[in-house]
Formats: sequence, C-alpha cells, structure tokens
Amino acid sequence: MIMYKCPHCGNESISLFKKADLDLRYKSKCKNCGKKYGLSSYSYLLDLIFVWGCFLIQNTSFTVPLKIVLGILVLLVDKLFNILFVPIVKK
Ligand SMILES: [Zn+2]
Repeated sequence: MIMYKCPHCGNESISLFKKADLDLRYKSKCKNCGKKYGLSSYSYLLDLIFVWGCFLIQNTSFTVPLKIVLGILVLLVDKLFNILFVPIVKK
C-alpha cells in the first residue's frame, strides 16, 4: 500500500485512497499528529479540466450510456492526476 507523508509531522499516515478522495473544500486531519492537511490549490485547475471535460461530453452526439462511461473515465483521470501531481499541503 502506497502511503503519503503528512506535511506537518512527516509520518506516512495518508493512504492512496485518502489522497484520491481529498477535496479542496474539506480538510483532513493527520492520524498521527491531528493537524489539518489538504490538497494544494493546483487541484482547482484539475477540477476545471474535469468540468470542461464533462461539458464537452454532454455536447457530443454520443448515446447516453457512452456519455456515462466517458464521464466516469474523465472522473478517474481527474483522481489519477490528483494522486500523481497535486501535492498535499498544510491547512
Ligand atoms: Zn501528521
């Protein structure tokens, strides 16, 4: 299991799933030191790309099931980018 370090105490207390699930609107607490951390504001850019992607999909002439599949794919890519590129910062 891949773990990420807390920006406060450096303890590897943040799981991959936790990081994928982080949201700019909510702050999470470190299990080790209890201090708050969250995603860097880069995450806003990813959210914009995600919204834009959904908008593009909605405006295609694809069938509804295909739009749903594409929407899920865009969401997965958004999560993946969050995991790979957005650093965890102190809040
Ligand atoms: Zn900590």
